[in-house]
Amino acid sequence: MDYDVIVIGGGPAGLTAALYAGRARLKTLIVESFSVLGQAIITDRIENYPGFPEGINGFDLVEKFKKQAEKFEVEFKTGDVSEVKKHDKGWEIKIKDKSYTALSLIVASGAKPKKLGVAGEEKLQGKGVSYCATCDGALYRDKEVVLAGGGDTAIEEALFLTRFAAKVKVAHRRDRLRATKILQERALANKKIEFIWESTITEITGDNKVSGVKIENVRTKEKGEVPCDGVFIFVGYSPNTDFVKGVLKLDKGGYIAGDDNMKTSEKGIFACGDCRGKLLRQVVTACGDGAVAAFSAQQYVEELKGVAYK
Ligand code: NAP
Repeated sequence: MDYDVIVIGGGPAGLTAALYAGRARLKTLIVESFSVLGQAIITDRIENYPGFPEGINGFDLVEKFKKQAEKFEVEFKTGDVSEVKKHDKGWEIKIKDKSYTALSLIVASGAKPKKLGVAGEEKLQGKGVSYCATCDGALYRDKEVVLAGGGDTAIEEALFLTRFAAKVKVAHRRDRLRATKILQERALANKKIEFIWESTITEITGDNKVSGVKIENVRTKEKGEVPCDGVFIFVGYSPNTDFVKGVLKLDKGGYIAGDDNMKTSEKGIFACGDCRGKLLRQVVTACGDGAVAAFSAQQYVEELKGVAYK
C-alpha cells in the first residue's frame, strides 16, 4: 500500500488528523482540494478558537495548522478526489487519472455554501452574486449590498461587509436571528446594517451585473424590490460528500453517518469535521474530531499490522 492513512481535506479537521497521524508515525498523505476553498480559510476573523484572545484570521490559523502537520513528515498533495473504492488490502482513491492506496482513509472534506436556488442566481454568480465576503467584500466599497440568511455565517459576514459597503441589508425569513447572541447584539447595534425581516429573496435581477433583488414577505406575501450592487448568500452549507456516495452511509442531509470515534459504515474509513453529521460545526470541534479520527485510524492500522499496543 502507498500509505497507512490518506486524509482527504486540508481544513482544520484534516490538518489536525494529519498532525496526529504523523506523530503516531503512520505514513500519511493529506489531499487538499484543488477547487474548493475551505470555510475556515475564508473567514476573516475567528474569535472562538481558544488561545487567540484577539481573534485570528482564518487563513493565518490554517497556515499554522499546516506548518505544524508538516513538522511530522506528512506528505501534501493538491487535487480533487473523484472516487473512493475498496482495495483488497484497504482503500483506493482517485485524483484525476492517478490512484493512491492506503490501509485507512480519513474523510475531512468539509462543506460548501448552499445556493438559494432563485432566478438570476446562477447567471449573476461572479457578477454581483457572491458566497464569500472575504473574497469579494472589497469590491463593494461605498456600495449597497443585500445579504440572505440569519445564522452565524450571515451575521459575521454582514459585520465584515460593513467595513466596505455603505449599507448591508440583511434579508432573513424570520422575525429574529438564528446567530449566536453576541453577533446579534453587534449587528443590531451597527448603523450600516438594516434588516428586512420575515422576507425571502425570490429573484436576483440584472443583465450583466446585479441591479437588485425581488423579495417577498413570508407572512403577508407582500412583494417588493430592493436595488443593490451585490448579493451575498449565506443560507447554510451542504457537505462535500458526493465522492463517497454509495460507499459510505450518509444521513438525509448528505452528511457522513458515524459514531463518536469517527468510525463510518465502512471499516477503515473515518470521517471528521463539517462533512459528518453532528451538532456543532466550528473550528474547535473540527480539530477535536480530527484528533479522534486519527487515533481511531492508528488503532485500526496497528491492528491490521499486528503491532497494536493492548
Ligand atoms: P445555519 O446555521 O444553517 O444558518 C443558515 C441560515 O440561512 C438560517 O438563518 C436559515 O434560516 C437561513 N436559510 C436557510 N435556507 C434558506 C433559504 N432557502 N432561504 C432563506 N434563508 C435560508 O448556517 P451557517 O450560519 O452557515 O452556520 C453553519 C454552522 O457553522 C453552524 O453550526 C454555525 O454555528 C457554524 N458557524 C459558527 C461560527 C462561529 O462560531 N463564529 C461562524 C460561522 C458558522 P432559519 O433560521 O429560518 O433556518
